[in-house]
Amino acid sequence: MNEQNIQKRMNQLVDLLNQYNYEYYVLDNPSVEDAEYDNLIMELQELENKYPQYQKEDSPTKKVGAFLKTDLATIVHKNPMMSLGDVFNIEELKDFDSKIHKIVDHYTYVTELKIDGIASSVHYENGLFTLGATRGNGVTGENITKNMLMIESLPKILSKKITIEVRGEVYMKKSILEMVNQKRRSEGLGVFANPRNAAGGSLRQLDEKITKERQLDQFSYTIVNPENYGVQSQLEALNYLKELGFSVNPYFKHCQDIDEVIKAIAEYDQLRKNLDYATDGVVIKVNEFALYDAIGYTVKVPKWAIAYKFPAEIVTTQLKDIIFTVGRTGKIIPNAVLDPVYIAGTVVARATLNNEDFITSRDIRVGDYVRVRKAGEIIPEVVDVDLSRRKLDLKPFKMLKYCPKCGSPIIKDGSDVLYFCKNPECGGRILEGIIHFASRPAMDIEGLGAKQIEQLYTMGYLTDATDIYLLKDYEKELLALDRFGQKKVANLLEAIEKSKENPLDKFIFGLGIRFIGAKAAKTLAKHYHSIRELKDATYEELLALDDFGEIMANSIVSYFQNEKHIELINKFIAYGLNPTSEVEENSLLFNGLSFVLTGTLPTLTREEASSLIEKHGGKTSSSVSKNTSYVLVGEAAGSKLAKAQSLGIKIINEEEFKQMLGK
Ligand code: NAD
Repeated sequence: MNEQNIQKRMNQLVDLLNQYNYEYYVLDNPSVEDAEYDNLIMELQELENKYPQYQKEDSPTKKVGAFLKTDLATIVHKNPMMSLGDVFNIEELKDFDSKIHKIVDHYTYVTELKIDGIASSVHYENGLFTLGATRGNGVTGENITKNMLMIESLPKILSKKITIEVRGEVYMKKSILEMVNQKRRSEGLGVFANPRNAAGGSLRQLDEKITKERQLDQFSYTIVNPENYGVQSQLEALNYLKELGFSVNPYFKHCQDIDEVIKAIAEYDQLRKNLDYATDGVVIKVNEFALYDAIGYTVKVPKWAIAYKFPAEIVTTQLKDIIFTVGRTGKIIPNAVLDPVYIAGTVVARATLNNEDFITSRDIRVGDYVRVRKAGEIIPEVVDVDLSRRKLDLKPFKMLKYCPKCGSPIIKDGSDVLYFCKNPECGGRILEGIIHFASRPAMDIEGLGAKQIEQLYTMGYLTDATDIYLLKDYEKELLALDRFGQKKVANLLEAIEKSKENPLDKFIFGLGIRFIGAKAAKTLAKHYHSIRELKDATYEELLALDDFGEIMANSIVSYFQNEKHIELINKFIAYGLNPTSEVEENSLLFNGLSFVLTGTLPTLTREEASSLIEKHGGKTSSSVSKNTSYVLVGEAAGSKLAKAQSLGIKIINEEEFKQMLGK
């Protein structure tokens, strides 16, 4: 690379990493894995070491965190909250030790688990909790006093009437994260990518009730100005914190030298697998505070401590089989059946293999030992094959020719990589179709989830979605089934009746027409006020609708050309389901304006907000561009917020949105 290109690459890295920092620290919604971020920052650091003349003022190597969430009040830390340098192998750890050894002779270490949460500072006056703050950019943090009050394991009154600042890590237990994500999934919301983002997103809330619901925890590990309390070492600090009533992680260790630290790291790596909180490394701190000034600091990190980062969790296991699932649109997806292994806190027995190309390009064969990756909440994925362990007789993968559920031939149907079963009577497709029909974004029938539908389908009570409306005739039979108590059946039948009142767009979406998502269904319901009208829509008419292209228009036309679908619709109508949409009075309030929604709004669902926008003549779009008029932002907003900020698009919250509507 010539110097011009080097400078260009360095600038590019600064921009990219600043964007990742924003997504990670402000939005609590990273778009790349930590390992990728770490590689890029290492590349930038190396280039900056070699070419300091090109180092930029806003380089992320020079700052802690980076940004602050704008809607929380800020406070300035009297003593800056620093980050930690990190090492990724024992070699680098030994290097860290030799640098210290060059400065001081006699020292010991304390090792602690590196808790994967977010750093916080808490203040007490005369033993009473007064203030809580995030690390923020190290100098200025966000005021999270109300939120910290919601953390049960944080003492609000200390055992001694002292004035003190203590720092630690707020985290979410893995078991709680699973619950929170499950709930978010069932509500159609995005899930938190990992425990750290979940903790950040839950703590930095304007409404502390949300923090309370999320049941956060915390561990304390640092006393600011420890000399004020006669505390002279990290070991003493941890014990003093315990005495004051703080929750201190029990696995700290006093190590005499770096060899003991290395042994301890191996033990931590085993131990952490059985803990209900995520840890991403071991923090190694020189124990004796008196040596800290001599060893020194950089602008970002102390030189007397380091984080040893555990490698990303990739585990090798045997691929027992490749099985195929059929989605409601007939999409055939290959899945790996694995010899169950423990990865990143859970037992993994299935992993996605994406599509035929993914498997053949990696030459993955049943019987192979494959490497599987699972980061946080991300779906486990097969990475590659350990060819050194391959047995000679393993057969190369061959894609199916026929649907695994109904035996019809499968075809690519316009996709480069995906296969589809085109048989509308395929059992796999029907089952998935019923599940989709009853799901929350569609007909929203409470009490009729995937498990119940599978059970009723297997027992023959449901053969297609219309049968849902006949279940009332089988009340006695339902009561005899497992998991269907009296109250549950009564509630379910009530929910089914209520679903008949749903607006037309929910019904259209529930039909599961390929390429017709919730938004397209809304557009259709605005133009066609009953399913009968929609049935007769022409290709040309459909093409003229907002955001409708050839593929969607074709999909609608061919759906209604299929006799089976007409029969299905007629049955729905015969069972009392004939949703309509009202011709709305035209409001021009948002005429010509385009909105993008991101994050979870405090009171409105995404659908409600979109329908208000559309009702007033506005449009919603899924991506931010220079043509976007407003970005409506809620909790755990995604990268769209960052993009809006970079383009200078007006950002509004729900309250401001309601004000625009005069509510
Ligand atoms: P860090 O999380 O690597 O280490 C410093 C932090 O460790 C401290 O601030 C403290 O909060 C925490 N910690 C936990 N246990 C501790 C203990 N016992 N003692 C002391 N501190 C303890 O550093 P960082 O600056 O917060 O974050 C940098 C890391 O974040 C990167 O290495 C990267 O992996 C990740 N990151 C990822 C992205 C992304 O887009 N994926 C973006 C930015 C940062």
